[in-house]
Amino acid sequence: MSASRIAILMYHALDDRRSAITLPPDRFERQVRWLRQKKIPILSLAQLCQGLSGQGDLPPRAAVLTFDDGFESVYTRAFPVLQKYAAPATVFLVSSYIGQKNDWPGQPAAVPRYRLMDWPQIREMARHGIEFGGHTATHPPLDDLPSPRLREEVVASRRRLEDGLGRSVHYFAYPYGRSSPQVQAVVAGAYRGACTTRLAQVDQTDHPLALPRVEALYVSSPVLLGLLFALPGPAYLTLRGQLRHRAGQILGRAWV
Ligand SMILES: [Zn+2]
Repeated sequence: MSASRIAILMYHALDDRRSAITLPPDRFERQVRWLRQKKIPILSLAQLCQGLSGQGDLPPRAAVLTFDDGFESVYTRAFPVLQKYAAPATVFLVSSYIGQKNDWPGQPAAVPRYRLMDWPQIREMARHGIEFGGHTATHPPLDDLPSPRLREEVVASRRRLEDGLGRSVHYFAYPYGRSSPQVQAVVAGAYRGACTTRLAQVDQTDHPLALPRVEALYVSSPVLLGLLFALPGPAYLTLRGQLRHRAGQILGRAWV
């Protein structure tokens, strides 16, 4: 599967304000509708990780939908679309900020502050099949932390999520995509899979604890989305160029 057309799409907030963490809701619906129209399977993260571990077949083309930080707009704007199209998704929560805003330490002033989902909203989505994953307690860059803090952010925050959800939490997203061998070892003891912010499609050789993703803002039009899932060849090379161009246009991506 060296020419994989499996992509984990990464979203943050949904609204019409133009910022580096927001996608307009109509664009999100257009993406999901396009995936369904083109019959590109939308997998859960669990299905993907099982496939990568050899516990199930992966289709040649597939999308996985992930939302970082747990913004309230995911509940108000994405959840109805996910239900309408029966699409699985995973939302990564920051356990100490549930029901608050994304104003954790280190958040650049340029990033807009939005409300994050509260427990009743999270539980309602979970009852309807949306999966929740860990994104630490306070959203720090994990590769900078001493060991006790690292365990608190990775392991203790998972337990808080499990207590609130009443179910197990198996997946994780590294804040800012930052990791290290030590971080990955701690994550390996607590989770089955983890997402980075490395820009790539998923390859069969990818480790479940270091999954690449594609920022949904970079492929917000059906044309670019089409390139992401196109057969190998010139279209794919065009995509790589387009993604680099979009990444260059959207400055300061270091806060995701
Ligand atoms: Zn984040």
